[in-house]
Amino acid sequence: MRVEGIENVRRILCVFPRYTSSFGTFEYAYPLTAGVEAFMPPQGLLVIAAYLPEQWPVRFIDENIRAATPEDFEWAEAVLVSGMHIQRQQMNDICRRAHAHDRVVAIGGPSVSACPDYYPSFDYLHLGELGDATNELIARLARDPSRPEQQVVLKTADRLDMTKFPIPAYELAEIPRYFLGSIQYSSGCPYQCEFCDIPGLYGRNPRLKSPQQITAELDKLLECGIMGSVYFVDDNFIGNRKAALDLLPHLIEWQKKTGYVLRFSCEATLNIAKRPEILAGMREAFFCTIFCGIETPDPVALKAMHKDHNMMVPIMEAIHTLNSFGMEVVSGIILGLDTDKPETGQHLLEFIEASQIPLLTINLLQALPGTPLWDRLKRENRLIEDEGRDSNVDFRLPYEDVVTTWRACMGSAYQPAKLFERYEYQIGHAYKNRLQPPRSPQQTSWKNIKLGLAMLRNIFWKVGVLGDYKIEFWKFALRRLARGEIEHLIASILVAHHLIMFARDASGGHTNASYYSLKLQEASVPAE
Ligand code: SF4
Repeated sequence: MRVEGIENVRRILCVFPRYTSSFGTFEYAYPLTAGVEAFMPPQGLLVIAAYLPEQWPVRFIDENIRAATPEDFEWAEAVLVSGMHIQRQQMNDICRRAHAHDRVVAIGGPSVSACPDYYPSFDYLHLGELGDATNELIARLARDPSRPEQQVVLKTADRLDMTKFPIPAYELAEIPRYFLGSIQYSSGCPYQCEFCDIPGLYGRNPRLKSPQQITAELDKLLECGIMGSVYFVDDNFIGNRKAALDLLPHLIEWQKKTGYVLRFSCEATLNIAKRPEILAGMREAFFCTIFCGIETPDPVALKAMHKDHNMMVPIMEAIHTLNSFGMEVVSGIILGLDTDKPETGQHLLEFIEASQIPLLTINLLQALPGTPLWDRLKRENRLIEDEGRDSNVDFRLPYEDVVTTWRACMGSAYQPAKLFERYEYQIGHAYKNRLQPPRSPQQTSWKNIKLGLAMLRNIFWKVGVLGDYKIEFWKFALRRLARGEIEHLIASILVAHHLIMFARDASGGHTNASYYSLKLQEASVPAE
């Protein structure tokens, strides 16, 4: 649904800020693709764009693809911005540019909702989810689009039922330019891991859309040109297990109807391994990748961070179970925990080798405002506000030792030979268990073949000829070519190349050790 009862017209510019280079945005993969320039379409801003009054013209700009121009700001009567903590500086920069054109600017989304004081210059702060604050913001802009004298803070008390959420305005985004499609079924997570701000921001009782909304959104994503994979951005896909079970038959039916042209991936807690009925449905719906916040293989550390649910099934057994349903596991890992010891880095490398997980996002612990971790460290006087540091946590181990361990782990885990060995394992132990749907007309179309050829050309030229890990690449690539595993070749190399290049930056000290760190971020603010 859209907001109702607004009669006049306002031109709205929605601007999504650039990401700082990070492990999880895959920018080193883009030059190997056929035109990808950004990671995922931003759900929040596209939902807001779809919720605005029907007669309001909306421009959507993702600054990861192109920067908003002076002409865009001049065209608009109001500017809407949304993003995460990692985009904080870029959001404040968009505000500065909009004000240079005397445009009113409102900010919403997870970062401002958790930390309103990060955004002192914005005219309107929209805190919380879509709801009464959104209606109030729209009503105010409709009445008067000039800048208020003082900052106005609007906080959602009454959230819009997710079954009433409009389909995100995917038509405004350049969907084929994204590495992955994005979709959201639920919001919130029942657990309370000490470091996580999700339960505080979105609640412990997951809210849900209907399965029919999801299939309608998938239809629209397809219409808008999505290819490849769609990521369920839900905080925890099994936050409500019954809801996941309700959705899966609809996804399976949709896949059968459309010819399995898309693969799915999601985030879920590792105890999903205890639910074979969900995993079987996911296999049939063609879920191929699952992100699990394993965080650490150390049971003492898991208990300390209140993530005991990761131990409901022994971790290695859980990973093998997910592999047996055809899913590659991607793992979040945190270093700098209070329970870490000097040998933690070595234990992590042993875990990586034993689990054969190719992609692990290894971050330094960061205390986010509004989390139990923040409250505890504040009580213990262990929060450090220093933008030159990679984390705001006063670790138990010396800071330099923790950062050195992180760099060493990144440098070792992503050596090309080791990484390709892990992909080789996935092909033999996980990918082979995937559903093998018949090829659809879309997959065998000339357009799709041309796309695949363009990616192969880029991969062979940029990695196989110009790259500096040619020997390892060709060993892996020739095996794929000999077995006709072209899709595995393309998918693995896109990700592997990013991991190898990003890890080199990391171990060389050229990038942040925490996804949330503010260090070094200015370089990514786009030039005007
Ligand atoms: S399970 Fe995941 S989403 Fe839920 S509280 Fe823990 S870290 Fe956050």
